[in-house]
Amino acid sequence: MKLTSVRGMRDFLPEDLAKRRLVEARVRELFELYNYAEIETPVLEHFDLFAKKSGEEITQRMYSFTDLSGRKLVLRPEGTAPVARLMATTLRTSPKPIRLGYIWSFFRYDEPQKGRYRQFYQAGFELFGSKRPEADAEIISVSNQLMKLLGFRGYEFRVNSVAVLREVLKEHNVSEGVQNQTLGLIDKRRYEEVVKTLRASKVSQDCIETMKQLFGIKGTDVPTTISKIKRTVEDYGDAREGLEDLETIVGLLDNPPRILIDAGFARGLEYYTGLIFEVYLPGLPIALIGGGRYDNLVETFGGEPTPAVGCAPGIDRLVLAMEEQEVATDEQRPAVVYVVPVGEMRTKAMEISAKLRQEKVRVELEVSGRGLKQCLSYARAREYEYVVIVGPEEAKKGMVILRDMKANVQTELPVERLPSQIKR
Ligand code: AMP
Repeated sequence: MKLTSVRGMRDFLPEDLAKRRLVEARVRELFELYNYAEIETPVLEHFDLFAKKSGEEITQRMYSFTDLSGRKLVLRPEGTAPVARLMATTLRTSPKPIRLGYIWSFFRYDEPQKGRYRQFYQAGFELFGSKRPEADAEIISVSNQLMKLLGFRGYEFRVNSVAVLREVLKEHNVSEGVQNQTLGLIDKRRYEEVVKTLRASKVSQDCIETMKQLFGIKGTDVPTTISKIKRTVEDYGDAREGLEDLETIVGLLDNPPRILIDAGFARGLEYYTGLIFEVYLPGLPIALIGGGRYDNLVETFGGEPTPAVGCAPGIDRLVLAMEEQEVATDEQRPAVVYVVPVGEMRTKAMEISAKLRQEKVRVELEVSGRGLKQCLSYARAREYEYVVIVGPEEAKKGMVILRDMKANVQTELPVERLPSQIKR
């Protein structure tokens, strides 16, 4: 019998989970502040839900199996498709715009490495029902806000519009299949293979030249970089429109983060139609947050035409980045009070514990029948802040002993005064 966890899947010990929960708490704060209603969908979905639009990169790495009734199912590899499924069905008639949020685990058969796991956690902010750049700007703003709340500095938003790349290809009659293949290769920065693929598909040299030019344009000076892209796609009406949208979105940002416009940047998911972005920290070459606009996905699932834009902060990667940037990951936690009965004081100790909990004190009751000396060394090993000793002599007077473990001093005091004496 193998007793290790499955490759690429991690056990979370209390200190690991505490870090994850800290990031999740910040995400939930933003759900509240931006009014995203949190939802949950099943971990298992039908294979077809992702086969349709999530892109080869993901669908080839899904954990899939056939259940006892012969249904082809998968452990969800990403969150946008399940939420879009809801929009196409149950939430079809719900008033728009609608903002939905989630924090779920996902599964991909990726090669495990730093920041890449086979079970990982992602949050999501999905905004359905608006085509307008204000919605895109909101999603960038939420992502920026999250980075700020977590205490990161020096991060950068890598931004592009898939519309620009797709429209150039479309104009040259490149089939959707080859478009997807091309964007998949661009996502991995395999530009030479892009050229080969386009050549093999008999795409015009004109198109290839335009793509090659685009791959070379990037910069943090947004207006200059956008002008360069504009010149390159001058003859492509629809691509120009995509670019103008991008310009408007960036222009709408209040207190914008550092932005790198990168015309040679794409994302592996096939459903994107406009803005795409990823957030990076210097020296850490993994995307911490990914997002973009996907105007056709709900319709692809048989729903009403519903424009949408969203982002997915990678919880594990944000934790990793916090450790790397030495951003504080330990939140001030309430002191632990360890209540120890001496002799036959078990009932009294329970009663005192209950009273303290009513006062919102964090209590651990001694339950192993150990002697006081052992209890004190246990409390020391666990780094508990206080021990309350419930002894028979003191109890008769309505008193207990409070021992401050850090200061190494103890005092006798009435039970009622305990809550006020404990620094929380
Ligand atoms: P994606 O669904 O590929 O757009 O990814 C969105 C975000 O999820 C990324 O920016 C990462 O932060 C995170 N992510 C994606 N794949 C993994 C993985 N295998 N392990 C950990 N985090 C991941």
